[in-house]
Amino acid sequence: MARDIIDDRLIGALHVRALSRAGLQHDSVDEHVAVQAGTLAALMEGGYDGDATLAEILNLGDLGLGTVQHLDGELIVLDGAAWAARADGRVDTLDGSVRTPFAVVCRFRPTASVHCEGPWTLVEVQDQIDRVARSGATAPADAIVAVRATGRFTDLRLRSVARQHPPYAPLRDVVAHQTEWHVDSAVGTVVGFRFPDAIAGVEVPGHHLHFLSDDRATGGHVIDLTMLDGDVQVQTCDDLHVELPAGVSLGTPGAVDRDDVQRVEGGHGGPVDAASGAATDPRRPPR
Ligand SMILES: [Zn+2]
Repeated sequence: MARDIIDDRLIGALHVRALSRAGLQHDSVDEHVAVQAGTLAALMEGGYDGDATLAEILNLGDLGLGTVQHLDGELIVLDGAAWAARADGRVDTLDGSVRTPFAVVCRFRPTASVHCEGPWTLVEVQDQIDRVARSGATAPADAIVAVRATGRFTDLRLRSVARQHPPYAPLRDVVAHQTEWHVDSAVGTVVGFRFPDAIAGVEVPGHHLHFLSDDRATGGHVIDLTMLDGDVQVQTCDDLHVELPAGVSLGTPGAVDRDDVQRVEGGHGGPVDAASGAATDPRRPPR
């Protein structure tokens, strides 16, 4: 069955293609393609019921991030498996039947890497991601960059959000009650993406990173961290295939309230709680 292409456009060097769920199921696996379910704009408006399953997403990529049905935690996809970091700090493995309203993955085959002998701040890690990605022979400045950084980390500030119940509140209201916690040190992996600004609204512009510890005891959306040592690997993708649930459109990429995005995702690694005035809790979450 041919995939259902309802939109097809170029944004700079980045090729964005919209797919129906049937299109997603029949999409081809390509290491230069990042595959996404849903859009950030729809999520920001409270669209927490996705129609794509993790099995469908994992069929098209083995590394990525997002959230899960009912906004019940931060999604981490690593080595072809999926976990959710819940608001109470637990990390649960997820099976393929779990649905997601917002997730992006790629088939990760690193095209460049840099060894870290830190400590590197989060901003330094982000700068290294950009620098290494640019060093790749085929990486345009506005390419999508997938990231996998493995090593030892300290002073992690992680966050997650609590499961929501209909009628859903907008994401900015949910994030105002997010749980944020501090992890002194952990060995693990940071996964994520850097998306070009032109794609804001479809995706989180800038760096968007999630963490999962090797012992699977902690994880979440990265607000801050220090990388002590390890390896930062990147892969550039020049196509983004976006699966759109019924009623969700691709919109106009780039046309989104940047302050709102910064508030809910802190995509550029800035002080998300300072920007929103959100009441975050720096304690470890209850176990
Ligand atoms: Zn996140």
